[in-house]
Amino acid sequence: IKIIGILTSGGDAPGMNAAIRAVTHTALNKGLNVIGIQDGFLGLFKNRMIQLQKSNVSNIINRGGTLLGSARFPEFSQKDIRLTSIKNLYQRKIDALIIIGGDGSYIGAKYLTNMGLPCIGIPGTIDNDVAGTDYSIGYFTALETIVEAIDRLQDTSASHKRISIVEIMGRYCGDLTLAASIAGGCEFIILPEITYTKENLLIDIKKSIKNGKNHAVIAITEHLYDVKKLARYIQEKTKRETRATTLGYIQRGGTPVVYDRILASRMGSYAVKLLLEGYQGRCVGIINEVLVHHDINNALKYMKKPFKSDWLVTAKNLY
Ligand code: ATP
Repeated sequence: IKIIGILTSGGDAPGMNAAIRAVTHTALNKGLNVIGIQDGFLGLFKNRMIQLQKSNVSNIINRGGTLLGSARFPEFSQKDIRLTSIKNLYQRKIDALIIIGGDGSYIGAKYLTNMGLPCIGIPGTIDNDVAGTDYSIGYFTALETIVEAIDRLQDTSASHKRISIVEIMGRYCGDLTLAASIAGGCEFIILPEITYTKENLLIDIKKSIKNGKNHAVIAITEHLYDVKKLARYIQEKTKRETRATTLGYIQRGGTPVVYDRILASRMGSYAVKLLLEGYQGRCVGIINEVLVHHDINNALKYMKKPFKSDWLVTAKNLY
C-alpha cells in the first residue's frame, strides 16, 4: 500500500476531524500518501479529492464537523455508481480506503472491499448505534451538549412548574437519551428499545403529580412521537403547562470533548496500522477501552449493540 484515501460519511460527528488528522499523520509518518475524499461516497463518485499534508490537518483536532465534508448518497447502493467510484480511486492510484461513519457507511465499505478495494471502517456518529464498539466518535460530545440543554430546561421547568418534553437524536438507538436522562435527572424516559405508550406515561405523570412533584422533564428519542402533539395531549389530560423542545442539529456540532479526541486519534492511527498489516473489510471498535477490529459483515449481522437495560433500571431508581 502506497496511497490511502479517507472519507467521512453519513451524519457528521464531533471528533471526525481528529480522526482525519490521526490517519493523515500516521500514514505520512509511515511514508504513505494520503488523499482526502470530499463529501463521502458522493465525492468518491464525483471525483472530489484532495492531497492531504500535515498542514491541511493542523489546528483541526479541536474543531467539530468534518473538514472533508459529508453527505447522504443513497445512490451508492447502485453497482454502476460504485464501479465509477472505484475507477476514480484507481485513477488516483489509491490502494485502500478508510471510511469514517455509521452502519450505513460500513455497508458502503463492505461493498468496496468485495469489489477489490481494501477498506477499514471507523465508527463516527453521535448516535452510538454502530456495531462492534462500545462507543463511536462524537457520542460523548453530543451527550455533553444534550445534558447542558436539559440542565437549562430543568431550570425553567422548575420555575414555571411546567412539564418539558425534550426530543433527542439517536435515530433508532436510545443510548443518547438514556445516558442524558441519567446525567440530566430527567423524570421520564421514552426509548425506541422499550414499549412505553403515551397512556402509560400519562399514568406515571399523574402519579408523580399526586406525590407532590410539580415539574418534570421527559426525555424522548426522535422518531417515536410527534412531540408537539404529545405535549398537547399531556397538557390536556393533566392541566399542566407542557412544552416540547426539539434539540435538533445543535447536537451534532461543537468542539469535541477530550474523550472523543482521544478515541478518534487512537482509532485513526489503528486503522492505518491495520491496512499496513494487510487487513481489509474490517471495522474498528473500542471494547472495554481496548481497540479491536471485526469483520464488517459479522459486525453488521451479529454485533448489534445490546440494550443497556441496567442503565434504565438505574434511571428509574432515580426518579
Ligand atoms: P449516521 O449514523 O450518522 O446516520 P450512517 O453511516 O449510518 O451514519 P447513512 O446515511 O445510513 O449514515 O449511510 C451513509 C452513506 O453510506 C449513505 O449515504 C450511502 O452513501 C452509503 N450507504 C448506506 N447504505 C448503503 C447500502 N445499502 N449500499 C451502499 N451504500 C450505502
